[in-house]
Amino acid sequence: MKPIDLRSDTVTRPGPEMRRVMAQAEVGDDVFGDDPTVNSLEELASAMLGKEAGLFLPSGTQSNLCALLTHCGRGDEYIVGQQAHTYIYEGGGGAALGGIQPQPLDLETDGTLDLGKVEKLVKPDDFHFARTRLLCLENTTNGRVLPRDYGEQARAFVDRHGLRLHLDGARIFNAAVKSGQSAAGIAAPFDTVSICLSKGLGAPVGSILTGGADFIHEARRWRKVVGGGMRQSGLLAAAGIYALENHLERLADDHANAARLAAGLAAFEGCEIDPGTVQTNMIYVGFPPDRLETFIAHLADNGILVYHSNPLRLVTHLDVSSEDVDRFLSVVAGFLAA
Ligand SMILES: *Cc1c(COP(=O)(O)O)cnc(C)c1O
Repeated sequence: MKPIDLRSDTVTRPGPEMRRVMAQAEVGDDVFGDDPTVNSLEELASAMLGKEAGLFLPSGTQSNLCALLTHCGRGDEYIVGQQAHTYIYEGGGGAALGGIQPQPLDLETDGTLDLGKVEKLVKPDDFHFARTRLLCLENTTNGRVLPRDYGEQARAFVDRHGLRLHLDGARIFNAAVKSGQSAAGIAAPFDTVSICLSKGLGAPVGSILTGGADFIHEARRWRKVVGGGMRQSGLLAAAGIYALENHLERLADDHANAARLAAGLAAFEGCEIDPGTVQTNMIYVGFPPDRLETFIAHLADNGILVYHSNPLRLVTHLDVSSEDVDRFLSVVAGFLAA
């Protein structure tokens, strides 16, 4: 029985074609700047996002960290969603390594920050306060695509306040495929954008930070400082190129599978989910708390892995087929009928 892993879209395994291009990749020493495959990936990704330059990093966390370290100095501040990855899931790296103070506030249900609320948090020029430098957004956030004109509104806002604008675009291509906008269109209002290659795109490792040439030059220095300078990393970059060239359009399949999963679950008594809220490859379903443990154990007995939370977050990806969705639903039906 093939396992079905719905914990995250990070769990995908490279397929035979991806492994073949990795094995055949031309490499050099990227710290010396002469790994041709890494250079190609950085050029490809930055062109796709409409930015001057790109930087290949081992993880999205390091990509966002290097963005923070480049945008902000010691005693500076960035404004960020309380539930955003760059605030809550990155180990406080900006504070730990950069002396950068986060100013979090709650995200609205559509994943935006209310710019009226943000305005009250921008600090005046007075030595009592940290210097507010940066506004940090995320798209998609919890599987939701930011409203189409929100990036432009945020741009006008930061311009008014002399701030810079970073996008954690770990899943920007899910947002692009869902909304019909280009990734470059979504990225345009932002000074800098990070993307993940190892989520829905299916590469084993990697993130790209994109932005202006001078910014990326400085970020490259920070990548070295935090230990992210890699050597023959063309082996990994080759997988990233393959993913960008072959795995974008198919994200629509993940979205269709998530919608199918949500519609199936909504039909069951005891599952709390509004399929209308599902936009991309992530769904959240509430489950009776007293049956959650036995439910998760029942799934595991049937070769199905889910991340332990309530509501349960289920994520579709390259290694989840529509048949897998149907098998999952029949296992759930079996549990609920028992
Ligand atoms: C996964 C993710 C990241 C980066 O995480 P890594 O595991 O370090 O690659 C950043 N932002 C968001 C929204 C993510 O989902």
